[in-house]
Amino acid sequence: EVKVHGRNGYRFFMPSMSERPAARLRIEQELRKALRRGDLKLHYQPKVDARTGAIVGAEALLRWLVDGREIYIPDEFIPVAEESGLIVPIGEWVLREACRQTGEWYRAGRSIVVAVNVSAPQFQHPGFHAALQTALAEAELPPSLIELELTERMVMSAGDQSRALMQRIKDLGVSLALDDFGTGYCSLSYLKYFPIDALKIDRTFVRDIASDADNAAITDAIIAMAHGLDMVVVAEGVETPAQAEHLREAGCSLLQGFLFGPAMPADEFERQLVAEAPL
Ligand code: C2E
Ligand code: MG
Ligand code: MG
Ligand code: MG
Repeated sequence: EVKVHGRNGYRFFMPSMSERPAARLRIEQELRKALRRGDLKLHYQPKVDARTGAIVGAEALLRWLVDGREIYIPDEFIPVAEESGLIVPIGEWVLREACRQTGEWYRAGRSIVVAVNVSAPQFQHPGFHAALQTALAEAELPPSLIELELTERMVMSAGDQSRALMQRIKDLGVSLALDDFGTGYCSLSYLKYFPIDALKIDRTFVRDIASDADNAAITDAIIAMAHGLDMVVVAEGVETPAQAEHLREAGCSLLQGFLFGPAMPADEFERQLVAEAPL
């Protein structure tokens, strides 16, 4: 059993649960209904400027809520959505909703860059580019306020084809980040080959940055290399001031983690923005 620390105490996750076929089938059926009924919501986790501490962006994270209670966490239901193909309509809803919210903030005078997670089967689906284009057009927002978080594996798997798609996405004005960097198999030469704007250092490296010299060295090297390639570096899972301090000194540009706040509903995120910088 894995405990995931959440805002309202602990979120429980038993990895074996969603691996049992009967359980998967049930989650799939419930997920279909949840999408229809509007039980899926996006929460927003702040990304702060490492030097000033100001909120400059957010990561949109999917939440499955029934009567305000989280019944499954993403690590349980996203794999089911991916295997069943439901990730395509869910992912389209996520894109539309994230663009809509970002456009609303933009018109209220808050230029927040919002990052949206994209799954491999969603990215590889032929309608992905059109769905993104539609979401951007409907929301009437500067596309540069949207960033997509891709994973090393999905970037690597299709080679030239993913590169061409990534370029077409960049041509829309949207930026691209590589999520959970350091956990996959992305060779350094690939980083230059793909049109990637930002690297997100996986939280396993960040976790013991202050106590483990090897992880600190890896993190410092990733930051230096990313800068050499003209990329922005974001550290995820920052929980302590000591971690933040180390990352700041190593030159990491953006920080994200419970130290600055968990993913929260849009209205709560908004209150945090206003409290920090009234218009
Ligand atoms: P991710 O994209 O790497 O997102 C970061 C995860 O780390 C989030 O978990 C976030 O709540 C958690 N986190 C943030 N700060 C901290 C911290 O300081 N400490 C710790 N221990 N954890 C922290 P979450 O929301 O449960 O999401 C898990 C994964 O589910 C995400 O990992 C992403 O891969 C996937 N996911 C979430 N929303 C979506 C979505 O809309 N679409 C897709 N395709 N995948 C999503
Ligand atoms: Mg992410
Ligand atoms: Mg991540
Ligand atoms: Mg992750």
